[in-house]
Amino acid sequence: MRTDEETEIVVPEGATVRELLRVSPGGKPIDLGAVDPRSTPGLPAAAGGGKDRKPWARRQVELIGAGLARQQEMLFATAKAAGGPDAPTSAPTGGGSKLRPGRPGRLLLVLQAMDCGGKDGTVKRVAGAMNPLGLHIRSFGPPTRQELRHDFLWRIRRALPPPGYVGVFNRSHYEDVLVARVDALVPEETWRARYDRINAFERELTDGGVTLVKVMLHISPDEQARRLSERLTDPTKHWKYQPSDLDSRARWDDYQAAYAEALGRCDTDAAPWFLVPADRKWYRDWAVAHLLRETFEGLDLGYPAAGFDVERERQRLSSGGGDGRG
Ligand code: AMP
Ligand code: MG
Repeated sequence: MRTDEETEIVVPEGATVRELLRVSPGGKPIDLGAVDPRSTPGLPAAAGGGKDRKPWARRQVELIGAGLARQQEMLFATAKAAGGPDAPTSAPTGGGSKLRPGRPGRLLLVLQAMDCGGKDGTVKRVAGAMNPLGLHIRSFGPPTRQELRHDFLWRIRRALPPPGYVGVFNRSHYEDVLVARVDALVPEETWRARYDRINAFERELTDGGVTLVKVMLHISPDEQARRLSERLTDPTKHWKYQPSDLDSRARWDDYQAAYAEALGRCDTDAAPWFLVPADRKWYRDWAVAHLLRETFEGLDLGYPAAGFDVERERQRLSSGGGDGRG
């Protein structure tokens, strides 16, 4: 059997991807240099070697994606049973719902990376495997004039997924300790104070039933150069390029230092950071898909009990009830 025709999900080797890719906590800056962006932690032997690995991983992502879609549906159904996915978690629950305040009711994937790090590709491949109905995807660019009139977390709060949804943040509040620091958009004491603000904010989210999965897609400067060159060579990719990308690239080391501190200071057990080697796109997607799979499994979701008498409704239907024919 060719390896890319695998029909079962093969679990990561050695440990879970959550364990393998979790940044070491401790409040200190992490050592990004210690992680090779071309490495493939946890990739099982079943992937084969060399060129076999890419089609194998792509196929695995499809299989994992089908499972994610099912988990996502259970999340959505549970929130709906609690009064509708748009109802606040604190709303009175009925109909046998298991959703309570403080119980996992939404999942939020936060994606951060240098330019060309693969955030958009990850959204397309991994979030794209789920049901669009239950996805809440938001991208963050430079703040608008209105956003600048508010605290940096204001636009983030407004973009949170409602209960029942899987949210994806393409960039996030972390930009306010990354680009804001490197480009000195605010004074140092302002961005320095934000690490604690972010930890308090994320604590509030997780206490309120949001499951956070924070991912940095880790690419090398060489890989970024290749991808930028592609964007300049292929006219269908020009739209992805911004001249300012080269200015950010010139500050590579400053950005890495800012990432190292942000990940080190804002990795908590409730809101962990994962560092995903991302020079190989197929490994990146495989790893993020497993991160989500493992996270969902930890939530132990199920389908909610019906909020009505199922037997009675069956009888009504078979006796012609509800079809207007009396
Ligand atoms: P892209 O993700 O390629 O669409 O680019 C979005 C741009 O918005 C990046 O250059 C980010 O650095 C920038 N950006 C995102 N959030 C902020 C922020 N809070 N302050 C300043 N720039 C930001
Ligand atoms: Mg860009």
